[in-house]
Amino acid sequence: MDKAYDVIIIGAGPAGMSAAVYGIRAGLSVLVLEKSGMAGGQILNTYEVENYLGFSSISGLELGTKFQEHGEHLGVTVKSGTVKKVIDQGKFKLVETEEGNYIGKSLILATGASHAKLMVKGEEELSGMGVSYCATCDGAFFRNRTVAVVGGSDVAVEDAIFLARGCEKVYLIHRRDKLRAAKRLQETLLKLSNVEILWNTTVEQIQGEDMVEALELYNKETKEKTALKVSGVFIAVGMNPNTELFKGLVDMDEKGYIKAGETCETSHPGIFAAGDLRTKELRQIVTAVADGASSIASSEKYLMTL
Ligand SMILES: Cc1cc2nc3c(=O)[nH]c(=O)nc-3n(C[C@H](O)[C@H](O)[C@H](O)COP(=O)(O)OP(=O)(O)OC[C@H]3O[C@@H](n4cnc5c(N)ncnc54)[C@H](O)[C@@H]3O)c2cc1C
Repeated sequence: MDKAYDVIIIGAGPAGMSAAVYGIRAGLSVLVLEKSGMAGGQILNTYEVENYLGFSSISGLELGTKFQEHGEHLGVTVKSGTVKKVIDQGKFKLVETEEGNYIGKSLILATGASHAKLMVKGEEELSGMGVSYCATCDGAFFRNRTVAVVGGSDVAVEDAIFLARGCEKVYLIHRRDKLRAAKRLQETLLKLSNVEILWNTTVEQIQGEDMVEALELYNKETKEKTALKVSGVFIAVGMNPNTELFKGLVDMDEKGYIKAGETCETSHPGIFAAGDLRTKELRQIVTAVADGASSIASSEKYLMTL
């Protein structure tokens, strides 16, 4: 039989890397499988992190690199691999990737979350042609142009602030009459002269031949439909958990979040869920990192029972 790792961690975001660091330091044999090949997860697409203790301001890429370096320093192996299937064989868990199969005595699921879609006409067709889910990745393509951001959360407001630095005009389209974003972010946004907020407004359609040209908007108050000319639209309407491949293996809630509490124990013995993919109130780097540590503590307890 191939080597059986004490713990296989799926995903090298903050939760997975924290689990790896705690696991290695606890003397466990640890393997991290990461589809992008690089540690960091969602934060790699964040231009600035200001709320992770110890760093008053750090770019997401820099923080992700620090996670990677911290792991490497302790001897953590992050293997490039997209996990396709997990099969429970009792005492052992088989993890299948496109690149090969691995065996673990325990598993930590830490595949995080991905951007939710608006699900309107034109979104899929013009994805990458003016429709984007990452302002830091694609914002530079829209220098001196007019763009829209859709959403009202921290991420949407951060995106609008970021884009306002290089774009001629930024519309923030929000379906409600209040933003959910942190007060400090809202204050920064409201000071920007090239940002306009369109309240109580939804995007009904994204229009364009080969590239985004306009948005069809609907104002819920006036019940009016209007067209807004933009070169790009950045969608920041929330996240969905990356848990599709674990369906049937562990219990989930109606939105697909894995049911697990602070100990990260799932409905399945020996399988733990850490980070944004589990049921919890606050999905942030600090809570993901905390889960990484808790999941290893739980995994250690489980390994003692084998
Ligand atoms: C734009 C943006 C800005 C943010 N800003 C902040 C902030 O300022 N402060 C803050 O605290 N939080 C912020 N967050 C939230 C924070 O990034 C997340 O809470 C945190 O990254 C969750 O960590 P995680 O490890 O659970 O998941 P993720 O970061 O999502 O990492 C999951 C990893 O699993 C990998 N993976 C997925 N599927 C597979 C598979 N099948 N096989 C192998 N690997 C797989 C992914 O590639 C990814 O690397 C932000 C999020 C976004 C999107």
